[in-house]
Amino acid sequence: MKAIIFSAHSDDFVIGAGGYMALHPKQTHCVVFSLGEMSHPWLKPEEIKKIRRNEMFQAAKILRSTVTPYDLNESNFLNENESLVQESIEWIEKHKPTRVFTHSSEDPHPDHRAVHETTMEIVSKLSYQIEVYTYSIWNPTEFNQQYPALYIDIKQTYQRKVKSMKAFPSQKVAIYTLAILIMYRALSAGLRSRYWLAEKFYRIL
Ligand SMILES: [Zn+2]
Repeated sequence: MKAIIFSAHSDDFVIGAGGYMALHPKQTHCVVFSLGEMSHPWLKPEEIKKIRRNEMFQAAKILRSTVTPYDLNESNFLNENESLVQESIEWIEKHKPTRVFTHSSEDPHPDHRAVHETTMEIVSKLSYQIEVYTYSIWNPTEFNQQYPALYIDIKQTYQRKVKSMKAFPSQKVAIYTLAILIMYRALSAGLRSRYWLAEKFYRIL
C-alpha cells in the first residue's frame, strides 16, 4: 500500500490528490471525516449524507481507491475523532503505507486544519516513520514553502481526476468554482516541474 489520505469532507481527497490516486490504482486509501451535512441546509441531514456518501464511493471507484467515511459533525472534529484516530492507527499498522497525505495546517477552513491536527496525532503514535505530505484545497497561493515540494506528473490521470470530480453533482457550485483553481494549480505545478500537468505536495515530515 502506497498511501493513506485524510480528507475533511467527502470531496477533498479528489481535489487534493485525485491525480496521484488515479496514478496508483488500488494503492491508496482515504479516510473521510465528515459527509458534510451542512452543505445543503434545506435538505434533511440524513438525506444529504446519503447523497454525498454515494457520490464519494463513486469518486473513489473512478480513482480505483478505497474509502472509509466517518460521520463526525462539522466544526467539531477534534472532540469526536477518538475512534477515527484509533482505527486509522490500526489500519496503517496493518497495511504499512509509506505516505500520508493530509490538509495543510495553514488551510483557511477550520475543519481542514482539524484534520491536519488529527493526522499529526495519528502519525505521532505509529510504530514506524511515515512520510507526511500536505495538499491544498482553497488556497490559490502557496504555503508551507519552507518544506520540500513533491511534484507528481498527472498528465495521464488528469482526465480521470476531472471525471471523479464530476461524481459530485451535489457539490456542483463549489466544484465548478474550484475547477478553474484546480486547473490553474495543475498547470503552474506542471510548469514548475516540467510535467505539463502536476499535483504539488509539501513534505512536512
Ligand atoms: Zn473540505
